[in-house]
Amino acid sequence: MSDAREEKTFLMIKPDGVRRGLTGEIIRRLEQVGLKIVALKLYRPTEKQVDEHYPKDKAWITRLGQKTLSTYEKFGYDAKQELGTAEASEIGPMVRQWLIDFMTSGPVVVMVIKGVHAVEMVRKLSGPTMPADAELGTIRGDFSIDSAAVANREKRAVFNLVHASETQDEAEHEIKHWFGEDAEHNYERTDDAVYKM
Ligand code: ADP
Ligand code: MG
Repeated sequence: MSDAREEKTFLMIKPDGVRRGLTGEIIRRLEQVGLKIVALKLYRPTEKQVDEHYPKDKAWITRLGQKTLSTYEKFGYDAKQELGTAEASEIGPMVRQWLIDFMTSGPVVVMVIKGVHAVEMVRKLSGPTMPADAELGTIRGDFSIDSAAVANREKRAVFNLVHASETQDEAEHEIKHWFGEDAEHNYERTDDAVYKM
């Protein structure tokens, strides 16, 4: 069985997080629980890099559209009137393009994070996609207030500060995609010793 301590995930601070000066705060929250940053860089991604980062399969794209529809339903908005369609499979591709526009609008911070159940832990710290659903105490819950209902009307993605891998497979793909052959740097944190008694 693989060592849960060695699990890695990928996190990106999106352009809204960098522009709002939340880079330090987000990193602090990751480090605070005991997760270790083993690779880190800031730069402005190309359209191609972001396009290849997000999945292209129909199921994933339709899921984006469904997030719009469930927000619209929750808050009583009319998708057909706003977007010209109420089909998740037609809304999804629009959202994906807005997402690419957003993610290339400024520099982002990308990092590889290691630690016990890193994928699940970082998703938990980030909170759910839509800020209204994100509990206080999560990054999205504490620092963002956007909604698909507002964003879609303005033809843009929801600004929610971070991207975090959802599964170990996704993490592996994203780490390779953003860091390629770049070295990761492992090191002992002083608190590692506490767990080795
Ligand atoms: P997560 O980032 O929580 O993993 P997804 O992978 O479903 O969420 O979506 C990727 C990103 O696309 C979200 O973080 C958000 O910025 C944006 N997004 C998702 N759904 C919508 C939507 N319905 N309208 C606008 N933007 C969306
Ligand atoms: Mg996702």
